[in-house]
Amino acid sequence: MRPIDPRLREELPGFSRYLAALGVLGAVTAAAILVQAELLATLLTAPAAGTAAALGGAVLGRAALTWLGGAVADRYTTTAKTTLRNRVLARSLGTRDAGRTATLVTRGIDGVHGYFAEYLPKLIGSVVIPLAVLVRLVSADLVAGLTVAVTLPLIPVFAALVGAHTRDRTDRQWRLLSTLGGHFLDVVTGLPTLKVFGRAKAQVETVRRMADAHANATMRTLRVAFLSALVLELVATLSVALVAVPVGLRLLGGGIGAQTALVILLLAPEAYLPLRAAGAKFHASAEGLAILEEVRTLPQAHPSGTRIPSTGEIRLEGVTVRYPDRDHNALSDVDLTIRPGERLALVGPSGSGKSTLLAVLLGFVQPTAGRVLVDGVDLRDLDLTAWRAQLAWVPQQPTIFPGSLHENISLGAEGDVAAAAKAAEIDFDRATGLSSGQRQRVGLARALMRPHADLLLFDEPTAHLDTATEAAILRTAAKLLDGRTAVLVAHRPAMTRLATRVVELRHGLLREKTCV
Ligand code: ADP
Ligand code: MG
Repeated sequence: MRPIDPRLREELPGFSRYLAALGVLGAVTAAAILVQAELLATLLTAPAAGTAAALGGAVLGRAALTWLGGAVADRYTTTAKTTLRNRVLARSLGTRDAGRTATLVTRGIDGVHGYFAEYLPKLIGSVVIPLAVLVRLVSADLVAGLTVAVTLPLIPVFAALVGAHTRDRTDRQWRLLSTLGGHFLDVVTGLPTLKVFGRAKAQVETVRRMADAHANATMRTLRVAFLSALVLELVATLSVALVAVPVGLRLLGGGIGAQTALVILLLAPEAYLPLRAAGAKFHASAEGLAILEEVRTLPQAHPSGTRIPSTGEIRLEGVTVRYPDRDHNALSDVDLTIRPGERLALVGPSGSGKSTLLAVLLGFVQPTAGRVLVDGVDLRDLDLTAWRAQLAWVPQQPTIFPGSLHENISLGAEGDVAAAAKAAEIDFDRATGLSSGQRQRVGLARALMRPHADLLLFDEPTAHLDTATEAAILRTAAKLLDGRTAVLVAHRPAMTRLATRVVELRHGLLREKTCV
């Protein structure tokens, strides 16, 4: 049986407390089992109304304990799942592994339910209850006690043997599901394109193949799970027989009292029961553990520093960015100083690294080499949340979130949403099915909702707008930009005219242009 991963204590708040609660519940349950067996044996050998009433109480008590255990486990599991979901979301910020994240956040995290709510309570019970039962058995009859003591370890040994096998299977099953999720998401997103190019059928085939592989892996895991349950059942039954037969014979021969014999016969199966239950939950727990490991190994968004940023000069020193699996730099050795109040236009052909430069300033992408200094402090040492609070960013493709247009513009910020919408030329009233140009106006309105931002980062905010709308937007932008520092990725001269200085990127190399 797998011990409890000590890392969980640090990873999940309240985990130790949960284990302690399970321990207490296990101990009380053990006491209830002993009392119940004792009372039942007494009732059978010397019937009395008082004993019957007490037995009824003990049975009710045990039922109440089971209910309480379930409630505690469910409550904790819900908290743990929320913590894990938040962690996945926080980690995947800035990474682009959407499929993996989506699989984890939706279906994946629920898989830890079996581990936290079912396996752990049974595991703790399987330590506390057999121990208590064993002590009582030894005190009742040494031979019976020893028999149980010798055969009990067989259950975890067999469970571990089967379990080692299960783990590999579940790991594989989880990986398959994850790939399937990622691929499925990509295919669904690209379905219109695939249809037009006549490739939809081929992709359906791929998804079907992966789904089949996943189904097969699941069936294999289940087969192993059923087999392991059978093995544990068999071991437990044989062991109880080993205790029961000699006790029965000695009872016939008068070597042991009827009450004691009954206590032994009633308690012996109880010693094996929790271990069998834990063993049966083992394969559910294996999935949970695989998922916990998946959460741990999720690519980290860069850890944030703690220094509070001050506004001032922003200086890029030899900044180079190379994305993983790329054979050329997105930015090469870029030196650039942005002085307070300066409005810098960044121009250059598509793919030259403009968006990447903004991503570096936003802290989404960390330079492969070189550094970014904000008022002399390395961006890596800055508290990124505080840093981003000073920024207003209009991305190239603003993301629209499920919700109303109002919510999409404010994104939780206080302020006059209607005024921002008007200034951004928003003449529509829904946030669904927006065109690129409409999205860009939502992006601009979002920036307008942050009038306290010191640094404005605009990534081709008017690329998808007609000239009339662009002109109106730029008039608003000019007001917003007044007296503030800005980096404007510009693709048209109209936008460049708002700048005080122009630099050009080509293949990741920066070049100063003559002043405008
Ligand atoms: P621009 O905004 O000037 O069009 P980008 O900064 O988006 O250019 O891209 C610069 C280069 O980096 C391009 O070659 C692009 O393919 C590559 N690139 C951009 N983003 C990523 C990414 N997330 N992963 C891998 N390569 C990327
Ligand atoms: Mg770009």
